[in-house]
Amino acid sequence: MDLGIAGRTALVTGASGGLGLATAQALAGAGVRVAIVARSVERLAAASETIEGDPVSIPADLSRPDEIDEMISAAQDALGDIDILVANAGGPPPGNFASTDLEAYPEALQLNLLSTVAMCKALVPPMQERGWGRVVAITSISVRQPIDQLILSNTARAGLTAFLKTTATEVAPDGVTVNTVQPGLHATDRLTQLYDDLDTVASRLPTGVLGDPGDFGRVVAFVCSESARSITGASIPVDGGTAKGLQ
Ligand code: NAD
Repeated sequence: MDLGIAGRTALVTGASGGLGLATAQALAGAGVRVAIVARSVERLAAASETIEGDPVSIPADLSRPDEIDEMISAAQDALGDIDILVANAGGPPPGNFASTDLEAYPEALQLNLLSTVAMCKALVPPMQERGWGRVVAITSISVRQPIDQLILSNTARAGLTAFLKTTATEVAPDGVTVNTVQPGLHATDRLTQLYDDLDTVASRLPTGVLGDPGDFGRVVAFVCSESARSITGASIPVDGGTAKGLQ
């Protein structure tokens, strides 16, 4: 399927592994020129080897506001105007109401909410001026159904979803779409950090199998496609049927 975005440029963060890397691979496979961001130079170098074309690697820590502006400038220097932003990062540490101190919230909100706000503030106005843009944030199925023991993630991602939904309406007349894609359980490093027995975890899913990161990346790439121009303000679950609510 031709996504109609060959020659476009994309900034994909949290992309040295897992769902971010799979998304960068899918976009590059569609002919998009890609810049990938993560903290480790070594992991970025290894990830680059798996991406078609000539991906640009930019080391930056999204939990540090001062590094985000520099990272965006580096991406623009390398690629020119950025047409597509895929905002992603690792997840915050687990914990519930009782075990999570107040002091843990600012860092989680920076990583999984404010970093994306900052990237949107820098990149969406130029997209509006050019009359074309795509913003996709990788959030979590926890936005539909909060996950016990992930109170920081639940809180940050719900806030981010509200921010992006509000922004989507405002920028829609300018050809910019803004969406979230909500992973359920996928076979990545994040999952092995959170759970000991992945077979048991998979057996509890309606599909009986963990999500494939490659499949997830292709869904995100489609949301960035030309044909997806009418999809905006949406939150799309990719969760093997985990969320049971009607919305
Ligand atoms: P992952 O931990 O496997 O990969 C995260 C990527 O982000 C890596 O490239 C990592 O190096 C990078 N990263 C982490 N912290 C960073 C930072 N401070 N600055 C820059 N880069 C950073 O995670 P994943 O499984 O690919 O998941 C992606 C997102 O989706 C995460 O936020 C995760 O919590 C969420 N999610 C994942 C699942 C799942 O089943 N995998 C389910 C629900 C939600």
